[in-house]
Amino acid sequence: MSQKEQAASPVYFAGLRAKNEGESKVKKIERLFSTAGFDKMFGQNDLCAVKMHFGERGNDAFVHPVFVRAVVRLLKNAGARPFLTDTNTLYRGQRHNAVEHTLLALEHGFSYATVEAPVIIADGLRGHCFTEMPVQLKHFSKVSLADAVVQADGMLALSHFKGHVLSGFGGALKNLAMGCAPARGKKDQHQAHFLIDPGKCVACGQCLAHCPENSIAWSKTPEGKRASITQESCIGCGECMTMCKHGAINLDFASERTAFTERMIEYAYGASRMHPGKTAYMNFLLNITPDCDCAPWSDAPLVPDIGILAASDPVALDKACFDLVNAQPGFADSQLRCNHGAGEDKFKGSYAKTIGEVQFQYAESIGLGNIAYELVKI
Ligand code: SF4
Ligand code: SF4
Repeated sequence: MSQKEQAASPVYFAGLRAKNEGESKVKKIERLFSTAGFDKMFGQNDLCAVKMHFGERGNDAFVHPVFVRAVVRLLKNAGARPFLTDTNTLYRGQRHNAVEHTLLALEHGFSYATVEAPVIIADGLRGHCFTEMPVQLKHFSKVSLADAVVQADGMLALSHFKGHVLSGFGGALKNLAMGCAPARGKKDQHQAHFLIDPGKCVACGQCLAHCPENSIAWSKTPEGKRASITQESCIGCGECMTMCKHGAINLDFASERTAFTERMIEYAYGASRMHPGKTAYMNFLLNITPDCDCAPWSDAPLVPDIGILAASDPVALDKACFDLVNAQPGFADSQLRCNHGAGEDKFKGSYAKTIGEVQFQYAESIGLGNIAYELVKI
């Protein structure tokens, strides 16, 4: 066996064929949970954070409550006391504070009656409840992580794997990084500079409505009223770029993309070290949309549904998902502009300036996990 094979982390994979195998997705989740050893990971009465994304209003691609309930029951059977959790957003959507966030989670089906666990927003009412954790890395000596995930005894991150306008894709690493960070931590990670092209702006006002810092205003141009950003107050959250459907807002990817991703991965590193030996990951390769679940829509998927995966190494898990997505043929009627062929990069086909590989490469270089994985089909 080569050194590379010895270093490979196991990633457990359940495909989606059901009729021939006589197995529902819930049954597949149950087998993944035990095969990956998650049933032995948590102790009796451990408070276990089930790290979720409840989806922005209008989005419907988040992990389905029926699957979340299956995980909750498995954790209870293992003796743990699970709760569902996420952190508040930087931008002014429906998840900006714990009250609206919890109500939206209910609206999306995450009630106790459905999922059999309470929802606890991890960073408190307005995102001010967090703990600083030392990391001693290139960008940060410490990271700010939400109190409820820090104070839990263990964590199981459930991630919808999909594309992302800045980081290329979003999976377990992004769920750790942005997902476990309060507003301060999200600001730490973003810090990018966005610009508006007045030639493409149609003055729809979407960016003004969603900017959390009121950093966008109207300005007069020869073409008429156009949006413009005040760089002094902009926190670089990128929400305006996500909301602009006309491609008028962009950032200097060449200078900002890698630094943004590295900052994100340093936060993921801190979050992955909160509960040594008690952090598990499941990725859902279903509804593989081009944008993250913070978008108030769910665009057509880029590729067909693939399956559900589980691992204890988030780097290996995300790399396996990245490869599985790219191995698929892309859908013609999707955001893919190119790279439709099996084996071509679907995330670049959707957002040309992104480089998803930076996530794995930097994560492995700081000891977060292994890029090398062994895909174990169950
Ligand atoms: S969202 Fe885009 S098109 Fe609309 S006002 Fe802002 S920059 Fe202009
Ligand atoms: S202008 Fe800055 S603060 Fe406002 S939404 Fe855009 S990136 Fe975020």
